[in-house]
Amino acid sequence: VPAVQVRGLHVRLGGAVILAGVDLTVAPGEWVTVIGPNGAGKSTLLRAVGGLLPAPGAVSLFGTPSGALRRRERARVVATVAQSPVVPAGMSVFDYVLLGRTPYIAPLGRESAADLAVVHDVLDRLDLTGFHGRELATLSGGERQRVFLARALAQGATLLLLDEPTSALDIGHQQEVLELVDQLRRTHGLTVLATMHDLSVAGEYADRMVLLADGRVVAAGPPDQVLTEELLSRHYRARVRVVPGDH
Ligand code: ADP
Ligand code: MG
Ligand code: MG
Repeated sequence: VPAVQVRGLHVRLGGAVILAGVDLTVAPGEWVTVIGPNGAGKSTLLRAVGGLLPAPGAVSLFGTPSGALRRRERARVVATVAQSPVVPAGMSVFDYVLLGRTPYIAPLGRESAADLAVVHDVLDRLDLTGFHGRELATLSGGERQRVFLARALAQGATLLLLDEPTSALDIGHQQEVLELVDQLRRTHGLTVLATMHDLSVAGEYADRMVLLADGRVVAAGPPDQVLTEELLSRHYRARVRVVPGDH
């Protein structure tokens, strides 16, 4: 059973066709990265997969039609890290990661010792033990990205949706964050569906890539078959440079 199955996904927003019949399959444990120029529909696709946009009948997660999942069930299956997550003013790293437990905590504000233990464990795994009390807004881009991942992990989901997780980072930190995601994928058996605009390191971390342009899949396959000069120069307006030798 695929972790993600998208069949003929059409999305219209504000009267415009944003996705025009997208098909996508992600196997359990696989890492698939969706690339494409600005405005191609990458974020929209991720939002539809994550249930943040209605996609009647087009999306199944681990064999269950997405529309049939209730909120709590969905939270056990899928965790989304948005392109620019809202960072609540004044919130500490610990409290932010604890928000990942929200679907499990009832009533809110009455978290159990088990929930707190999950947060401690996740912060430890992501090398954030010294950061519990730090205000989120004071962290560097790379540290903040680790905290976003920590919150997603605290949720305990098996499918990680990452919308441009490296867009705000320099190349060293890009590699660090992607390395961490890859490590978590292997140790936790996670499935990863990511989007990336910057292609400099994207190919090193994906099992497969999907090139989206104008709301359609124009290429899909192993990174070296998608990151070709021909495809990229045809679909990216600006010139993109791919680090040579890695693909
Ligand atoms: P990408 O992530 O590939 O840059 P997006 O999925 O964010 O692309 O957007 C794809 C297109 O859909 C863009 O042209 C964008 O302006 C448009 N779009 C996104 N959200 C909305 C919305 N809520 N209403 C109208 N148009 C939207
Ligand atoms: Mg964009
Ligand atoms: Mg986007």
